[in-house]
Amino acid sequence: MPRIEIKTAEQIKWMREAGLVVAKIHAALREAAKPGVTLLELDEVSAQVIAQNDAKSNFLGYGGFPATVCISVNDTVVHGIPDMTRLEAGDLVSFDCGAYVERGGRQWHGDAAFTMIVGGDEAGSMEARRLNAVTEASMWAALASVATGRRVSAIGDAVEEAVEEYRDGSWTAGIIEEYTGHGIGTAMHQAPEVLNYSARGMSPRIKEGMVLAVEPMLTDGDIETYVLEDEWTVKTADGSLASHWEHTVAKTKDGIWVLTAPDGGEAGLAPYGIKPRP
Ligand code: MG
Ligand code: MG
Repeated sequence: MPRIEIKTAEQIKWMREAGLVVAKIHAALREAAKPGVTLLELDEVSAQVIAQNDAKSNFLGYGGFPATVCISVNDTVVHGIPDMTRLEAGDLVSFDCGAYVERGGRQWHGDAAFTMIVGGDEAGSMEARRLNAVTEASMWAALASVATGRRVSAIGDAVEEAVEEYRDGSWTAGIIEEYTGHGIGTAMHQAPEVLNYSARGMSPRIKEGMVLAVEPMLTDGDIETYVLEDEWTVKTADGSLASHWEHTVAKTKDGIWVLTAPDGGEAGLAPYGIKPRP
């Protein structure tokens, strides 16, 4: 297994700087994602925030990705490429983006995603609202498990439990298994792999100085996906809606710190009785 990069307290502060840039991109995208706007215009919004904050995009050029943000609409799960598509009221759209800062001669990365209904929750279908609520809740449950769990596998267990809590008669959200969370630090994608489902076998112990990107991806139907010919866009095979939420979280000396949340995770972690500990 590749080595897990352990960060010093100072390095985690540098990652917080990157995380706050990502939070600013999210705020700008949420504001700009109105009916009629094109996905390319939204990529421009993201690029401007990154430039204005003396940061750099870790998405643009990654494996040849052509934009600073992945925008995934309705049945697109992840890795959607911004194009001339115009958002419509009621669309369920996810924004996944990141930034890095250079400190101490190295890059320090942040990575986070959120999903929203264009035009406000009331513009969306019941299915879209339900799916987005359970996906966000499963992310916070998973982040809380980084504070309370002994091993990285606690994250997948927490996602599964949260999904089960939202069971509605015969309906449950599908948990995508092909894509996972990951360690993050001097590169965007590092060891360990962070599964969103319960798995047997040993996983690494959660230790002070670990930083993880926790990112459940749920669907309103089956979990099968396929990739378009552009070699990026991931869609649900059955055409069902998908939602994706992600934060970068650090295990600190006294607890956890959600580096890409403006409040460090205070509001989202409160239901779990956890306070962020920078
Ligand atoms: Mg991401
Ligand atoms: Mg990620």
